[in-house]
Formats: sequence, structure tokens, C-alpha cells
Amino acid sequence: MNTHSHAFFTYAALQGHPQAGWAVLGAAFPDLLFFLACPVNAALKGIGFKAAHQATHQNKVLHTLVECCHSFLFLSLVSALFLLVFPQGLMFCWGWLSHLMIDFFTHHGSGHPPLFPLHRWKFKSPISFYEPAQHGYPFMAIEHLAILALTSLWLLKGGFQPSLVARFLEAWHFPLLGALFFLLSLALIAFFRQREPLPSA
Ligand SMILES: [Zn+2]
Repeated sequence: MNTHSHAFFTYAALQGHPQAGWAVLGAAFPDLLFFLACPVNAALKGIGFKAAHQATHQNKVLHTLVECCHSFLFLSLVSALFLLVFPQGLMFCWGWLSHLMIDFFTHHGSGHPPLFPLHRWKFKSPISFYEPAQHGYPFMAIEHLAILALTSLWLLKGGFQPSLVARFLEAWHFPLLGALFFLLSLALIAFFRQREPLPSA
């Protein structure tokens, strides 16, 4: 999904939560590096935005960093760190998690390996947020119509109440995160147990 939509829908889902801002930042975070690098690249090299976009895509260091930001493994590590030293900032990780889950199901050719750097496997979703062959145009139309509809609703109502998701997260923040860690650990154990043993020399 588009970066601005990640931020918008996270805010829409968590409206009224006192730390919704942290979640919005987390929801945009995985793509921010790339978006900041594009204009910097264009300025440094004196090239147009399209060429800078391509050069940024081809930059290996940046590519690795972007893949790290889209890895469930890195998210788990950072969440564990936040849990220990800065639990108030855990909403950032919820926003980040929403980005990774939505990206997982809305990328076809340009997906990110969820277990990077341990494994390069990635899911090629039959629905893409931009690729025409995978319903990219209708997806983008629905995405932006939904933004328009929600914004109109807010304007008409002149404000908003704390959402259901916000109240649910407030009450189930820690147990839910613990359950996610547990599921990821189980998935990793299952994944590595299924791998073919290396042929003996
Ligand atoms: Zn992304």
C-alpha cells in the first residue's frame, strides 16, 4: 500500500488513542528511508526525480536497510527492546506491524522477505497495490476512495470518538504482543525444522 495510506489508515483505526501518533510514525517508518533518500540522491547527483528513484532502488546498502525495516525479525527484536527499555513507545511497533502485514498481502513483484536476513523467501500476492496485472488500478482507486470517504465522515461529524481498535489495544496491549512473539517463535522453529539438511561432504 502507499506510504501515506499506511499512515492514514493507522490513524483512522486508532483515532482517540493517546499514543496514536507513535503508531502513525511506525506505520510510515519502513518506507521513510527510501523516500528521504530519493530527493537526497537527486540533489547530490544533480539528476531528475525519476532517475534518482531508479538509482535509489539500485543502491545495495539502502536496499538492505529497507529490507531490514520490512522484516518481521527486526520488528520482533526492536519490539523486545522497546518492551524492556521504553514500553510507552510500543505503539510505534504496532504501527510498524500493520505496515508489514499490509505490505505482505499487497505486493507481487516487489515484495519483501518477511524473514530477512535469514531467508529470502517472499510471498507474491495475487493482489498488488500498484501492479496493473494484479488489480493495481482498482486497488489504488478503492484505497483513495476509502480515504476520501473517511475524511468526509470526520468533517461531517466535526470530530471523532476513540475507535474500537484503540480501546481494544489499550486493554490488550501486552498480552497481544506476547502472543505475537510466541507465534513468530513457533513459526520460526517450524520453518527451520522443515529445512532440508545440508548434504554431507
Ligand atoms: Zn513498505
